[in-house]
Amino acid sequence: MADVLTPAQRRFNMSQIKGRDTAPEMTVRQIAHGMGYRYRLHRRDLPGRPDLVFVSRHRVIFVHGCFWHRHECRFGNVRPKTNAAFWKLKIEGNVSRDKRNTQALTALGWTVCVLWECELSDRPAVQERLMAYLGPPRGQSLR
Ligand SMILES: [Zn+2]
Repeated sequence: MADVLTPAQRRFNMSQIKGRDTAPEMTVRQIAHGMGYRYRLHRRDLPGRPDLVFVSRHRVIFVHGCFWHRHECRFGNVRPKTNAAFWKLKIEGNVSRDKRNTQALTALGWTVCVLWECELSDRPAVQERLMAYLGPPRGQSLR
């Protein structure tokens, strides 16, 4: 029974196993790096292995897919009709894991920011959010 997976479920499992270096995450890394920020990736010793870790600033960023983490946007509101119970369970699992990870990180003194996939097409807006969240990049004079 447990071995019987639909192709969609199998793809989902594969994506979970891979679980890193996704396109949205690469976009954020590229923008942050271009602004002069330096960060660590997926620190295993932190709850949820945040996508970008700004160690000296004690700040982390998660880059979330809207569907997988149920963003309150039109992509996050998609409810597949086939295997509805499966998707519901998986996505609710993600959402509650996100919540636990955020609480655990906060308890450890980290500040947590989530960037959503649907926000990333507006590059200047992402830059503004990074600047507001992280402060100016190191070694860069404010003009
Ligand atoms: Zn979204």
